[in-house]
Amino acid sequence: MNPRLWIKSPLAIYTGTHQDARGGVVIEGNRIVELVGAGQQPSHPCQQTYDAGEQVVIPGLINTHHHFYQTLTRAYPDALNKELFPWLKSLYGVWAHLEPEMHALATRLALTELLLSGCTTAADHHYLFPAGMEQAIDIQVEEARALGIRAVLTRGSMSLGEKDGGLPPQSTVQTEEQILLDSERLINRYHERGDGAQIQIALAPCSPFSVTTDIMRESAVLAEKHDVRLHTHLAETLDEEAFCQQRFGMRTVDYLDSVGWLSSRTWLAHGIHFDDREIQRLGTAGVGICHCPSSNMMLASGICRNNELEAAGSPVGLGVDGSASNDGSNMINEVRQALYLQRLRYGASRVTHFDAYRWATAGSARVLGRDDIGTLAVGKQADLALFRLDELRFSGSHDPLAALLLCGAQQADRVMVAGDWKVIDGTLPGQDLQQLMAQHRQAALRLAEKAMAHR
Ligand SMILES: [Zn+2]
Repeated sequence: MNPRLWIKSPLAIYTGTHQDARGGVVIEGNRIVELVGAGQQPSHPCQQTYDAGEQVVIPGLINTHHHFYQTLTRAYPDALNKELFPWLKSLYGVWAHLEPEMHALATRLALTELLLSGCTTAADHHYLFPAGMEQAIDIQVEEARALGIRAVLTRGSMSLGEKDGGLPPQSTVQTEEQILLDSERLINRYHERGDGAQIQIALAPCSPFSVTTDIMRESAVLAEKHDVRLHTHLAETLDEEAFCQQRFGMRTVDYLDSVGWLSSRTWLAHGIHFDDREIQRLGTAGVGICHCPSSNMMLASGICRNNELEAAGSPVGLGVDGSASNDGSNMINEVRQALYLQRLRYGASRVTHFDAYRWATAGSARVLGRDDIGTLAVGKQADLALFRLDELRFSGSHDPLAALLLCGAQQADRVMVAGDWKVIDGTLPGQDLQQLMAQHRQAALRLAEKAMAHR
């Protein structure tokens, strides 16, 4: 039998449920087997005890939208101070030169950064497959497995190049046949089902302005056939809305519906520019929305209508997005950003720190179609993040759970995925972060040099 571990008497705990867990959480193997009430003892003997008296315990944070490769083009000079379309046009030409080794380093760096910020499940949207990058998702699977983080890797795609009226350069688009064959290969090879899945595959045509209508339709058919999820960027900017009107003669949600995507299998990144009727349609269909506050502020895209979307029935989760439009991959910081950006829309009393925690945990889990993660409850996977409040920024704070967000926590002290500690004392055991940064920096420089040489 697996040893039972009691994470005992935390300084504060957010479980995402109404159950009392002030006495801590008991873990056996990869699952939570008991929540202990205040002043109580576990009902069965525990072989191990971890005293969390100085830590705030929350469910592992779940990031539902990102582009790991973009860590190589953070704060890129040509892309500064621009909105989405011109920003993309400044970067496509750089990204077109991505190589497998750069991509491996970018993925490792982003996942490391996420883990250290309390993230235990990360979705990535990788849509860039220039010649030589055919193994992009295979590389990501390998990196995620090595670090032990859960990953939902979406097989992205771009099929509508500049010559056909799309936004991306021709060298970055693939044929529909290439995309669909590879999508099916990846699902068959890597997609895990059921409780505790570590690696999952989803299908993710990039956006209305970079893919053909056919690939949207065919991806939905393939997703249905294999029972995997669908993901794309939608309603991020008004430019995109204008593009849809002009090219398809309809608004974004009508377009989504027209290609068979208005379903609970779908989650959308951003989802900002919806009208009231569209929000009702999305909610009724159960389409998930990933709110990306930092990216939306950075590119001045607008503010997602989280409260109305949730009220209508849509799962709402969080994503750091980026990394070239954030430009970080810090999940606990993103929870704070969501709290504040949503307050600008709804006012302080209608957006609490518990709302922000919910989006980043149970909300994100629902966005990814998962019910085994996102809360601390009996039977759920043992994915947890523990934070200390012993930095200057927290000194003098009173409510520990509020302090984590209000004082601006940046780094977790301990992170557990499926019952295993992946972060201990604020670091990843066995990983040389200095070396990783040195290699990643070199890769970023090499990518920029290649792009300059081809201009
Ligand atoms: Zn994105």
